[in-house]
Amino acid sequence: MGITKYYFNEEHEMFRQTIKTFLEKEASPHIDQWEKDGKIPRSFWKKFGEMGFFGLNYPEKYGGSGLDFFYNVVLLEEVTKIFSGGFAITVAVQIAMSTPYVFHHGSEYLKENYLKPSIAGDKIACIGITEPGAGSDVQNIQTKAIKQGDHYIINGAKTFITNGVYGSYVVLVCKTDPDAGSAGVSLILVDLDSEGISKNKLNKLGWHASDTAELHFDDVKVPVANLLGEEGKGFYYLMGGLQLERLAGAIMGYASCEGAIDYSLKYMSERKAFGRPINKFQVLRHRIAQLSSEVEATKTFVLQTSRMHNDGMYAVKESSMSKLLASELADKTMYQCLQFFGGYGYMEEYKIARAFRDARIGTIGGGTSEIMREIIAKMVIDDVSYNRASSGDKDAKKLPETLEELFATLPERLKKEKAAGKNLTMHFSFTNKEYTVEINDGNLQISDGLQGEANCHVETDDETYIAIETGKINPQEAFMSGKVKVSDIMSMMSFGVLFKRL
Ligand SMILES: Cc1cc2nc3c(=O)[nH]c(=O)nc-3n(C[C@H](O)[C@H](O)[C@H](O)COP(=O)(O)OP(=O)(O)OC[C@H]3O[C@@H](n4cnc5c(N)ncnc54)[C@H](O)[C@@H]3O)c2cc1C
Repeated sequence: MGITKYYFNEEHEMFRQTIKTFLEKEASPHIDQWEKDGKIPRSFWKKFGEMGFFGLNYPEKYGGSGLDFFYNVVLLEEVTKIFSGGFAITVAVQIAMSTPYVFHHGSEYLKENYLKPSIAGDKIACIGITEPGAGSDVQNIQTKAIKQGDHYIINGAKTFITNGVYGSYVVLVCKTDPDAGSAGVSLILVDLDSEGISKNKLNKLGWHASDTAELHFDDVKVPVANLLGEEGKGFYYLMGGLQLERLAGAIMGYASCEGAIDYSLKYMSERKAFGRPINKFQVLRHRIAQLSSEVEATKTFVLQTSRMHNDGMYAVKESSMSKLLASELADKTMYQCLQFFGGYGYMEEYKIARAFRDARIGTIGGGTSEIMREIIAKMVIDDVSYNRASSGDKDAKKLPETLEELFATLPERLKKEKAAGKNLTMHFSFTNKEYTVEINDGNLQISDGLQGEANCHVETDDETYIAIETGKINPQEAFMSGKVKVSDIMSMMSFGVLFKRL
């Protein structure tokens, strides 16, 4: 249980039981066969869709359930814990790596014809970024989609595409303006049975139940209506979408560690050596203690990042850190857990062998560990910041740039239930402007100038305050460095928690 109670409520836990029961009955008995076949039957995904599992976060209008992100966290944890990375990744690609582009950027026509059937389990999606000559270096992709009348003609190749062989459609990253660099990248939705597409199924070290394809596009004709969002914005859409992909990878990372440790503990309590269960050997006990501590710490961080995502924050740094830490830890955990099994760990009949193979991809797919470290280094060393407003996400709110714009957001951000019955007055002094913000019995009032007595007086410059509120600088650091003066820190904190973040 541990820290999870801070993130999952009773309804989430009830949902966990539902998905667990479904997987025990409908998936676990078939996993070995699916791993052998390199394929999961469509009839299974239809049942999965009918249970509502593909649409937990999507609006009811499209057949979804409109639930919070933690339902998807529960789903990803549980599909990971049945010991087939190839099974889990099929779910993750569908819910977190491909359909979100259709939801966020697709027209109503595309939502009706692709998102709805994906939620229902009738269509399986994939995301086509990687090419034989462009993996980490996404900007260097060469697949071209050239407009001719009301169609695009697509030529090029993609590789390592999960769900690419048996899937229904691909969210294809291609260049609609090959001379415009990243500003020429667009996302186009392409049916995988289109004329001119050839597929080659790849043999892999792990993830055997998942199909991974090399796709060739030879004069593939696609209607312009299949463009997602606007031409030339694809790279920015992708940068936004990759945060969720990385977060999903991180959730599967810590969940696979938990599964492997539980499985190892059971084995260690049954296996005897030198007349006692091997879980009595101190060296093995300490290894379990160390791994459990690292998993719990990583999980806490990933769940906190999930909360940021749930609250609509654009957590580039935290998602990259989560993916880096959880996937590296999964790799190490599987290596060490296999050791607990001795020779049996090397045998296919023990699930730890598969978990060991499947974990290896974690530090490669969805951006390698080296690329995660590059992104994090840019943010912590070079002060680079990424925000969604510049990412071209049409659903993203424009962040306030002036004090007037910032204070105008307060009424809609007020958490009414939290504010109910509260009384608090705040004075704000900026470079050329002063405000009083009062909460009277839960009601908010904002006025110019410093009115009446205040519980707390905040003094800073416009730029610093806007940067804090828009998440560009850390409030604690601004406070410690003296850029912000706060007369009563407790009142400031009580005030802060009454408002949703931008
Ligand atoms: C099983 C599997 C499933 C996949 N599924 C999909 C999918 O569904 N869709 C999709 O689009 N892609 C998918 N991928 C592709 C995956 O995202 C890429 O393999 C990954 O991004 C790395 O690209 P690459 O393989 O071309 O390696 P490269 O980019 O060639 O990298 C090779 C090595 O160089 C390092 N490197 C590269 N650039 C730098 C740098 N600037 N600094 C330091 N080190 C660097 C890398 O970290 C790596 O260690 C999948 C891959 C696999 C194996």
